[in-house]
Amino acid sequence: MYLVESFLSIQGEGKYAGTPSLFVRFGGCNLNCKGFACEFISPHDGSKLIGCDSLYAVNEKHFKNEWEEYKDAKKLFSKIASHVKNITYLPHLIITGGEPLIHYKNPVFYGFLELALKHGFDVFFETNGTINIDFEKFALYKKVGFAMSVKFSNSGEPYKKRVNKKAIQNIASHAKEAFFKFVTDKKLIEQGAEEEILDITSGMHVPIFCMPLGKNRVEIKKNALPTALFCIKNGYNYSDRIHVNLWNNKKGV
Ligand code: SF4
Repeated sequence: MYLVESFLSIQGEGKYAGTPSLFVRFGGCNLNCKGFACEFISPHDGSKLIGCDSLYAVNEKHFKNEWEEYKDAKKLFSKIASHVKNITYLPHLIITGGEPLIHYKNPVFYGFLELALKHGFDVFFETNGTINIDFEKFALYKKVGFAMSVKFSNSGEPYKKRVNKKAIQNIASHAKEAFFKFVTDKKLIEQGAEEEILDITSGMHVPIFCMPLGKNRVEIKKNALPTALFCIKNGYNYSDRIHVNLWNNKKGV
């Protein structure tokens, strides 16, 4: 297992926006959303890379040397628990990536989840909703929440790769809690975000949150009102992106 970063902050998005949260980001993803067009410079060879705002947790070739390898669940948990040793409460534990669920069967990952639940953490996964979890064999996943950020056409990934309705339905019907978290902007709203959301969520009674696209305060501000109006029109919940408003595009907060 490769840990990209871990830090104590607040949840900036979705149903629990504003809640103190401990973020644990693992490396690796099954998608590569170049459509989000965030630019990074490779620490590997200095080349310019294009992808999502978490590209540093997606692109193994260019970033793996910066990730920390863990072969033991106890060591991993002790590293994560060290963030809360000086506070008197347990924050939400947010497992993110990349796509964390590509590791869902990994014994180190599952062992880490077991320890986190045993120590009383409320655990939430941030997922792209493409991994079909075996909830019977890996029953601990029934005890956690899932924020499903299923990707739209603007991710640049083909429909077949980014939308797995069986996986989404499986999470919605087995997990302790699940909600959708979509990222929208004016262009996408005009080009059919409503149809894409209807398609992805059809037949499911799962809360829907939409939040403005943007990797910094200026972009979030530009997309906030169109997204809020889109939510009002369709009965979705609006979510701000508090961490961007507080810290702009700084990593690790
Ligand atoms: S699924 Fe998420 S983490 Fe993976 S490439 Fe797409 S936006 Fe980035």
